[in-house]
Amino acid sequence: MKNYFSSKEKKIGILGGGQLGKMLLEVTQKYDLYTKVLDPSTDAPCVVGCKEFINGSFNNYDEVIEFAKDCDIVTIEIENVNTQALKDLQQQGKKVFPQPEIVELIQNKVVQKQFYVDNDLPTAPWFGFKNLAEMKRKIEKNSFQLPFVWKAATGGYDGRGVMIIRSKQDIEKIPEIPGLIEELAAIEHEIAIVAARSETGEIKTFPPVEMSFHPVANLVEYVFCPASLPEQTLKNASELVHSLLQKLNLTGTLAVEMFVTQKGELWINECAPRVHNSGHLTIEGCAISQFEQHLRAILGFPLGETKIIRPAVMVNLTGEEGFSGPVVYQGAEKLLRIAEVYIHLYGKTETRPFRKMGHVTVTADNLDEAKQKALKVKGIIKVISTN
Ligand code: ADP
Repeated sequence: MKNYFSSKEKKIGILGGGQLGKMLLEVTQKYDLYTKVLDPSTDAPCVVGCKEFINGSFNNYDEVIEFAKDCDIVTIEIENVNTQALKDLQQQGKKVFPQPEIVELIQNKVVQKQFYVDNDLPTAPWFGFKNLAEMKRKIEKNSFQLPFVWKAATGGYDGRGVMIIRSKQDIEKIPEIPGLIEELAAIEHEIAIVAARSETGEIKTFPPVEMSFHPVANLVEYVFCPASLPEQTLKNASELVHSLLQKLNLTGTLAVEMFVTQKGELWINECAPRVHNSGHLTIEGCAISQFEQHLRAILGFPLGETKIIRPAVMVNLTGEEGFSGPVVYQGAEKLLRIAEVYIHLYGKTETRPFRKMGHVTVTADNLDEAKQKALKVKGIIKVISTN
């Protein structure tokens, strides 16, 4: 039997070399696992920290096949990968987690929404379309009222590929690509739950977190844990995620973003088959991090206890508006004077407005204290550039 704890015995291939991969590597180093990473940038956050770095495209069929040849297990840190290559690798007997069919399902928001409907999982009322003519026909037919939300079927992330349509003029701004239209939710809270399912079928969900969005960039600015919502709502949300994970039959990590509406309903917004920004605070706030849990899940190890050990707030560090170029973390040193402040810098050399460059997690005796500290952190550190 292979000894999965020894770096000489097995190779884990990771498609994508960004910050999520970098945080996975912190755990593979702790466990002494052999890692090989594929990314198109020679400057990717994972270059430092993996055992082998391959410069190439995770979208390219041949490059993914070639990359994975000598890997024992293949996983992803980004879902925009060549799933045909992953399916063929799986067919050849290689372990690929999450399974490529699930990555494919999630890559397309129309297919993803249909999965919720087919499995009786609550989500905003919607319809999909292939082109604008079909969209306009269906708006009439379904008597969809303004305002509503437009989403691109594929390729959107971090708020790109999503538009709130408030007027007839806004409708004209929708690009001629396949997409979906959904009801604008009367959102009271946005929450997320990260969960993992092991190869053995064991499932563990992390405590729900609450997200607060940047008003302009449509990007998460803060993540809070525990979420300040009624116990019953949180329990229902955890059960919903548990059931989604089971229905998908996924091995690995699933991050599920949900809306809690003003009427107290729970709607699944979207999910990602990987470790997620909303789970970063598990590193300092929970008994196990999402990164360690993911590796345990894909290796078929027992999953860890997920309970909160410290109330935590995560502050995303994104590039300031008006700065593009070599990055400077202004004020970072000052943060080190504050107790229980944990800085994570992703190692990207260039900053751009709203680019995710790092995050800071703060922990405290209670959530209010952590929130106050997070606001202080936000005021001190700025991601700017030398020019
Ligand atoms: P992305 O894939 O870019 O993260 P999302 O589908 O998560 O896109 O949408 C980004 C944000 O837009 C959500 O977090 C939410 O704030 C808002 N949003 C998305 N769908 C709806 C909706 N149906 N009703 C209201 N707000 C929405």
